[in-house]
Amino acid sequence: MSEATQKRIRRNVHVCGVVQGVGFRPFVYRLAYECGLSGQIGNDTEGVTIEIEGAGSAIEVFLERLRSQAPPIARIDSVRIEEVAPIDSVGFSIVHSQVLGRVSTGIPADAATCCDCLRELLDPGDRRFRYPFLNCTNCGPRFTITRRIPYDRPQTSMAAFPMCARCQAEYDDPLNRRFHAQPNACWECGPRVWLTSADGNEISADDPITACIENLLGGRIMAIKGIGGFHLSVDATNDAAVARLRRRKHRNGKPLAVMVRDLDAARALCEIGVEEAVLLETPARPIVVARAREGNGIARGAVPDIPWLGVFLPYAPLQHLLFADTRVRALVMTSANLSEEPIAIDNDEARSRLGEIADAFLMHDREILQRCDDSVAGIVDGAPQLMRRARGFVPLGIALPLDTPALLAVGGHLKSVFTLARGRVAYQSQHLGDLENVTGLDFFKESLTHLMRTFEIEPTAVAHDMHPGYLSTTWAKQWAAECGLPLIAVQHHHAHVASCIAEHAIDGKVIGLALDGTGYGTDGRVWGGEVLIADQRSFERFAHLAYVPMPGGDAAVREPWRMALAHLQAAGIDVDSAPVLEVLGAAQHDVRLLVRMMERSVNSPHTSSMGRFFDAAAAVILKRGKVDYEAQAAIELEGTAIDEPDDISGYEITLAGESGTPGQPLQLEPSPLWKEMLEDLRNGVSRARMSARFHSGVAQALVRVTCAARGASILGGADGLSKVALSGGVLHNHRLSRLLRTGLEAEGFQVFQNRRVSPGDGGLSYGQAVITATMLAGR
Ligand SMILES: [Zn+2]
Ligand SMILES: [Zn+2]
Repeated sequence: MSEATQKRIRRNVHVCGVVQGVGFRPFVYRLAYECGLSGQIGNDTEGVTIEIEGAGSAIEVFLERLRSQAPPIARIDSVRIEEVAPIDSVGFSIVHSQVLGRVSTGIPADAATCCDCLRELLDPGDRRFRYPFLNCTNCGPRFTITRRIPYDRPQTSMAAFPMCARCQAEYDDPLNRRFHAQPNACWECGPRVWLTSADGNEISADDPITACIENLLGGRIMAIKGIGGFHLSVDATNDAAVARLRRRKHRNGKPLAVMVRDLDAARALCEIGVEEAVLLETPARPIVVARAREGNGIARGAVPDIPWLGVFLPYAPLQHLLFADTRVRALVMTSANLSEEPIAIDNDEARSRLGEIADAFLMHDREILQRCDDSVAGIVDGAPQLMRRARGFVPLGIALPLDTPALLAVGGHLKSVFTLARGRVAYQSQHLGDLENVTGLDFFKESLTHLMRTFEIEPTAVAHDMHPGYLSTTWAKQWAAECGLPLIAVQHHHAHVASCIAEHAIDGKVIGLALDGTGYGTDGRVWGGEVLIADQRSFERFAHLAYVPMPGGDAAVREPWRMALAHLQAAGIDVDSAPVLEVLGAAQHDVRLLVRMMERSVNSPHTSSMGRFFDAAAAVILKRGKVDYEAQAAIELEGTAIDEPDDISGYEITLAGESGTPGQPLQLEPSPLWKEMLEDLRNGVSRARMSARFHSGVAQALVRVTCAARGASILGGADGLSKVALSGGVLHNHRLSRLLRTGLEAEGFQVFQNRRVSPGDGGLSYGQAVITATMLAGR
């Protein structure tokens, strides 16, 4: 039957998801036109509503293409279709609906320059040739330039730039790629760039970007204003420049991320598989951590002592222009801050904070309203894992497995991220850095105020970590008291496991392996190598790594040799003997002092930390006595074993205690491991092999204890738990993740890992939110 002879039908189509501010309405307009259909489209509180009328077969095509051809940065979560009576409508229109009530779609995330805009940027015939701020509905800044909802130009920092007639015409034309592109701009009407010296004086230059390139190629340090903040940049192939940046930034060991022109350039630096390539090219453009190639020309100082490199591709037109000069091969692009301070965004703030570091500044006058670092991701055990959720991902919602009243979960202490939740959606803040001081706390409050306003969420409960000393805990208590809200303390490792349970919507109990550096336990000790039987509501501690003292407390985090000493001493090894002193690289006097401290329990909190256990092993195997950042030793240890096969026999860790006794968890007892390791050391076994044996030993012991947990659950009358949730910062370790999954699967377990939220402390608040919602629901 031809379309002409078909009966006319009309459908009401409701689309939920990220469909506002991403070019969805013009897309639907064009689609309806192409399918020969009439009707209308408008925004509503949860997405868009489309009325569509015409032949049934054409409507079918329309609905199919609606899902399959949606704009690149749109995300369709659901489509609801209702039959309505035809009204013989003519033509298709975009209606500017008055949105009443709450707007739950909020603001889209920032998206990298699209192909069409990139083509214009480099086309001498185009009116936006080399314009550093071009964008369209498919690309450009969103979250970082928005003051409040609704997401409309007057609410963004583009309000300061009235559009010229040509830009306005594009903005008003439903068939134009720039229809309602809020940051639309051109040479005539939009923001501009300029160069200043370190003391803030403008340096006159015909083309500030070319001048910036000359500075970079000359080995100078540039502070470059970007999308979510300033970057500090140097030529990544210039050893002296990289060393100077490190010195001035007081950043010794931490790896620096490197930006390159395109995928081919990334392939020249790193081993980029299909999955890495997809990640690199997503509109979020995260830094992707991949294995570095030998002799790739990147300065050794960019990534000392590890076999990986964080690479990413340009995502702003300004960055594309830097790489349009073929002499620019690779640039270090690191967040412009000192250590874990928030990234600088404001021109004056940048000048005062970075004046001692940068030789010159590439400034622009489009105000950044939300600080947002670059996101970091990697392929861990065959699938993408988000390590730092920031630009490009914030403020996109993450699904929750249950209905939630409005609530706030404040997260932890390091790598802080909070979560606002309502309904079935959790909104995680951008990575906020370490909440160690007032600056960190100010950033936390700034971001919280903004996101609460953006999503119009007024929390009715507050969740925090059990640690009484965290700044986030103190703040949560104070805030909850001021607002008269209920306060819920959540155990750190339970929150980690719950984040994995919720991400995969697992029903019922799981065996949770929570492996990380530090978390406050219910017994007041420092937990971190935990086997929990848990669901979204509660947990019991089935087993843990045996406690050892942390001589000197936090000093043991900075000096892994102290953890090695504690472990060797606990294993009954004579730490005062000459060979062990040599292994520790420590003076007899220092060792004796620490031993006395541990014996008298002075400043030596007990810990079952898996992260510190890895540190101790790194201190022995790599002689890594001190570190510049947390987990550095453990990361280097993993890197050492990168070429070792997986099926290496592990060092022995025994299981001590009786399972099934309430309140008496089993203990993973590593004494035999240390004896075997010292023996390997004496026999001259390679560091790579020893590291591999260590990883295998940990994985094998954890598989054994997981089997024991399943056995105990069968005795308890259950069917036997078969699902395992892996979480905690140690799961960033590729080798351990892989060994655990394969080992557990071989025993018949179903294994789940964090993917969309970080397994590290960045994912903590998401877990806290889920536990709190479950408790409030009385489930
Ligand atoms: Zn574009
Ligand atoms: Zn213009």
